[in-house]
Order: sequence, then C-alpha cells, then structure tokens
Amino acid sequence: MKSGLYIVATPIGNIGDISPRALQVLQEADVIACEDSRVTKKLFSLLGISCAKEFVTYQNYNEEEQYPKLLSLLEKERSIALVSDAGSPLISDPGYKIVRHCREKGFYVTAVPGCCAVITALQLSGLPTNRFMFAGFVPNKEKGRIDFLLELKNIKSTLILYETAPRLLKTLEVVRSLYGNREIAVARELTKMYEECIRGTADELIVYYTQKPAKGEIVVMIAPPTETDATSTLDIEALLKEKLAQLPLKSAVKELVATYNLNKNEIYDLALRIKNEQ
Ligand code: SAM
Repeated sequence: MKSGLYIVATPIGNIGDISPRALQVLQEADVIACEDSRVTKKLFSLLGISCAKEFVTYQNYNEEEQYPKLLSLLEKERSIALVSDAGSPLISDPGYKIVRHCREKGFYVTAVPGCCAVITALQLSGLPTNRFMFAGFVPNKEKGRIDFLLELKNIKSTLILYETAPRLLKTLEVVRSLYGNREIAVARELTKMYEECIRGTADELIVYYTQKPAKGEIVVMIAPPTETDATSTLDIEALLKEKLAQLPLKSAVKELVATYNLNKNEIYDLALRIKNEQ
C-alpha cells in the first residue's frame, strides 16, 4: 500500500457498516493510529483483521507528543491508518493537527469515508438538511452551556450537537428557556439494536425524557429559528416577564443577568419598560 496517512471511518454501532475499502486499508496499513488500542483491537477482532502490526495511540491530550512519531514513520515510507474509537476521525475526535503536518510536509493524505453520527442523525431527524451546523459537544458546566447555546441561537441552520445521556434533559431545558419551544430531534444509539429518533417540540421532549430517562449515545438536533420565532430580545423579554412576576425588579434583573450572562444595563432598561407597560 502506498505510504501516507489514511483517515478511516469505522462503524458507530453496526459492525456491518464497515466499507470494503476501509477493511482493505486497515488490513494492509503498517501502522494503526488510534485513540485507545484496546477498543481498536476489539474492533479488529470482530472484523477478522490481524492485530500483528504497530498500534500508536493518538489522542487530544497527547497529540503534540505523538505527531512527530507519526511523521517519522511516514518519512520511513510507512502507511498509517488513523481511526477513532468509532465513526469518523476528526469529528469531535483528534486528528486535524496530524493532517496539517502531513500536508505541510507533502505526505500523501486520503480519507476512507463512512459512518459519522452527525450525518446519520440528521438523515433520520426529519429536520431541514439543506443547511446545518455541527457544533460538537455541549459544554458540561452550566455557564459554559448557556454561553455556547446563546452564541448559536440565531444561526439559520439545523443545529447539531453531541450530548451524553445524563446531561440530555438539562440541555433540553436550557434550550427551551433560551430558544423557546422549538422543534428538536434526539437521535440515540444509531445503527444499534435500540436505535431511536424522536422529534417534537422542546416541551414534548422534556416530558418524554423525564418519563423515560435517555440511555446510550446521543445526538441532539434543533430546528432553525423561524420568522415567527422569538428573536433574542423577545425570548429574554419573556424570561424577564416571568422573573418580574416572582421577584422585585432589581432581583429579577440580577438573576437573569447572572444566569444568561447578559448585559446588565440593557436588561435593566428592558425591565423598566415592561414595568411601565404593565
Ligand atoms: N467521530 C465520531 C463521529 O462523528 O461519528 C463521534 C465521536 S464523539 C467522541 C462521540 C459522540 O458521538 C457521542 O457522545 C455521541 O454524541 C455521538 N455518537 C457516536 N456514536 C453514536 C451513535 N451510535 N448514536 C448516537 N450518537 C452517537
């Protein structure tokens, strides 16, 4: 096999999704660069591929340390297959830095495409597919999650996010409070036995996943804002009205500003206007 870096997609659940070309490249490559050699060796044994070759771990945390090793293997005219634990390498997985280095050095780089959770989920969602934005994993911490979702709120595309089961409900609730009752699809366990893709309004999905807590691997997709959807001011206005019904003006402003990282003066002015109109 020609020396170079081969970016090889592997199944995200159903082992039958490996492509003949991926099988051939994985069989013939001199070196396998992978996130976790135990996971990849298990995959190789399921696929009937020999593990008698060099495995190099390549992860986000050790990329700086490992890329010179891979480049020196390419200088020795080796062929390297880059895989992630599952799905398409580089998509919320490490790899783009080694691709850059390979290109700078003039090494051959090619992709062997296949499964990718983003695309599979979008295909099943029933949400618009002509424009979509993949934004990776939703941040774990409350403030990070709010900042991240606020930044993406007005993008006129289907928004695709990776999420974990224990955090799904919290993310749906924050989306509901920031985006309004938009249509959302949640895809779970794609290509596996319990594959599921549920679409509904934010409120419907919150009820569904409260009654039936989600398990497994998850992709969340949010419909683009419609013309009649609340603009950011209108949504904030609704949230503020809700707070003003419960709290004195200053406390309502303070709480909203802190929770959603908003501009204090703007929210104070908006609160005064709402009070005057009431
Ligand atoms: N690079 C992989 C890809 O794009 O196919 C994704 C790697 S990322 C570290 C793992 C995340 O992808 C999971 O937490 C989940 O959000 C999503 N994912 C992967 N496999 C999935 C599946 N079978 N069903 C639903 N989501 C999946």
